[in-house]
Amino acid sequence: MPSAAHSLPIDVSGLCKSYGQVQALDNVSLNIAAGEFLTLLGPSGSGKTTLLMALAGFVRPDGGSIRFGDREMITTPPHKRGLGMVFQSYALFPFMSVAENVAYPLKIRGVSKSDQTKRVERALETVQLGGYGTRRITQLSGGQKQRVALARAMVFEPQIILMDEPLSALDKKLREHMQIELKALHKKLDATVVYVTHDQREALTMSDRIAVVNNGRIEQVETPERLYRQPHSFFVADFVGESISLPVTMANDQARLGTHALKTNLPIAQGRGGHRLVMRPELLEVTSGAVPETANDFSGKVDDIIYQGDSVLVVVQHATAGQINVRVPANRAGQTGLPSKGERIGLALHPEDTIIVPEHVA
Ligand code: ADP
Ligand code: MG
Repeated sequence: MPSAAHSLPIDVSGLCKSYGQVQALDNVSLNIAAGEFLTLLGPSGSGKTTLLMALAGFVRPDGGSIRFGDREMITTPPHKRGLGMVFQSYALFPFMSVAENVAYPLKIRGVSKSDQTKRVERALETVQLGGYGTRRITQLSGGQKQRVALARAMVFEPQIILMDEPLSALDKKLREHMQIELKALHKKLDATVVYVTHDQREALTMSDRIAVVNNGRIEQVETPERLYRQPHSFFVADFVGESISLPVTMANDQARLGTHALKTNLPIAQGRGGHRLVMRPELLEVTSGAVPETANDFSGKVDDIIYQGDSVLVVVQHATAGQINVRVPANRAGQTGLPSKGERIGLALHPEDTIIVPEHVA
């Protein structure tokens, strides 16, 4: 067996693509490290598929550069880019068996029959479909079809694998299971993966880094944790994770909510438009006594208590900020006892959790 080739970095620079009036890609630049799992995350119509198809060679950009390692790819046809691809629809050949589907990329590359058989078996074992080779595609469940598509994408040991919403046709339980499996599989394959999803939770679960796409532009590229805790714009803060937000005024680097000067340890990004305070429900702390001086005080009256299984949502009415949602883990709620409706409670937002973002990136 030939040993696996090493994964390649991807360098995208100044990529543009317009369809009539629509600027699907607006000067996109992105560096993806060799072996990285990078996710393009954004709402429908933001340009994720256009960017992925440009990487694959199916969309010809109006301008810019795409390099795999040190090779410029912009004029290279799709079949010469050496990519593995998985689509939302799987795009399997329904009239072929599982093994024939997986063998297809090897066949068109002229790999010998005996080598094909070995490599197909190994790829099917990797996706836990050992022994399924003779099945028809029509005899498989959605999750199994998805795995066949995956086996076909990796059977020729590509240095780069592109995936466009590959799990979106699966039900929630199977989707969450496959997220963990795909992540584990990436660790085994020495490949750079570019993954597309509109599901922020999926992106947080799977990625080494996430590129947030908005209106044909990349707003921020970060690790999941930093993206969640230190968003650079209101769009990113709002799209990733649960939050409520309030407009604040900025003067001499001091953010104020009404007359209250906000304490924060986080950097405040520059941008266009005003700034907003972003509060994550699980980062607010219900205090037993008064809120400590070091924290921002959002104490108020409890409007409602909503049991949600794994957590309890406490809805607090604050004099100037209005309604604030606080999430308390269910086990902790059980231990400390929950406040009751109508009670006044202390609510602290600590400086390390106080996120202030510009409305728009610069
Ligand atoms: P996403 O994958 O994030 O949902 P797309 O990359 O498919 O977004 O689309 C980005 C924008 O480009 C959308 O406004 C879409 O309507 C437009 N678009 C994409 N492909 C074409 C095309 N072949 N012709 C015209 N407009 C297109
Ligand atoms: Mg798409």
